[in-house]
Amino acid sequence: MAAAKKHKPGKPSPSSEHDPGKDHDDLNRSPDTVGESVMSPEELERVLAGMRTAGSAIDEEDPRERLASPIGYTRKHGGLPPTKKSLGQNWLVDPDTTRAIAAALRASEGDLVVEIGPGTGALTEVLLENGYRVVALEIDRRMVDVLAERWPDHDRLTVIHADVMKADLSEITNGEPFCIVGNLPYNITSSLIFKLLEQFRTHPALISRIVILLQYEVALRLTAQPGASKASVLSLLLRYWGEPELALQVPKEVFQPMPKVDAGLLAMDISPEPLHPVDHWPTLLRLVKGTFAKRRKMLRNSVPGIVGLRPIEGIEFDWTRRPQTLSAADYAWLAEQLAPKHER
Ligand code: SAM
Repeated sequence: MAAAKKHKPGKPSPSSEHDPGKDHDDLNRSPDTVGESVMSPEELERVLAGMRTAGSAIDEEDPRERLASPIGYTRKHGGLPPTKKSLGQNWLVDPDTTRAIAAALRASEGDLVVEIGPGTGALTEVLLENGYRVVALEIDRRMVDVLAERWPDHDRLTVIHADVMKADLSEITNGEPFCIVGNLPYNITSSLIFKLLEQFRTHPALISRIVILLQYEVALRLTAQPGASKASVLSLLLRYWGEPELALQVPKEVFQPMPKVDAGLLAMDISPEPLHPVDHWPTLLRLVKGTFAKRRKMLRNSVPGIVGLRPIEGIEFDWTRRPQTLSAADYAWLAEQLAPKHER
């Protein structure tokens, strides 16, 4: 089975074409070479020309700022601020892609959606068009100002100047359940997913679904099935809360500035309860991280080196297995067996 087909801008590829569990060939290729070329030079020029038109009122002296203008929005005064690489600012400039991301939320009018990193508001615009109530967290003050200018008085939009890594998500919505959507800055992906996992555990039923755009290779790792060569700590831990799905492959050409690699859309319903009951989360986390840190080693060689666990002697298990072959249920059972006395 082939990897998710790249969609041409304007033609989102359906998720049904992808089976992450059987992607071994494509998983082992570099992201740059996955799939066929999606945009001819002529098509690319047409997209860029559209962007130039959209940005025509912006400072003519700086072509970078013209290019950074999202389709459909031109600032009233001056251009958009130059993009900051350190904040992962690659703006989405293809309306069909933003519509496909919003559709993957499967939300209804009036639903509450928390958007992480709204930037210029390309995705926010579609969320509002769909009738959702949006709380958007943006770390860059300059972009908060852009959004305030773009929607000075929208009754379904709240923009908060905040670092999502420091924000208390339950407080932001006063405990009301919500979905999360975001075209994530690449540098915070893993830490944000760890933060969300903790949130799922400590605030059951607060987050109902997540739809996040990541680097394609990272999305493959996070959606890998147990047993797949790309199975990882996070793909395993996500499976306590649902079935992460690679909903879309998004070509790099729909971002401005264009990143080096394509992106992948991870979508997942969040179960209010862990799908595999775990009584000893600290042990489970130590076990999963400790074994994946030595992913080539058999468990009989890696587990005894993890601090604070019970000895494996006497526990009936096939200790010749390697971490990526274990399911979330296997790890839950093992954590139960290996939890030290003080955690019981
Ligand atoms: N949603 C917009 C789009 O799709 O065009 C922008 C996406 S851009 C890849 C990432 C956005 O996240 C930027 O606006 C950036 O300033 C913001 N950002 C980066 N780190 C953040 C953080 N820790 N908390 C909140 N926003 C952050």
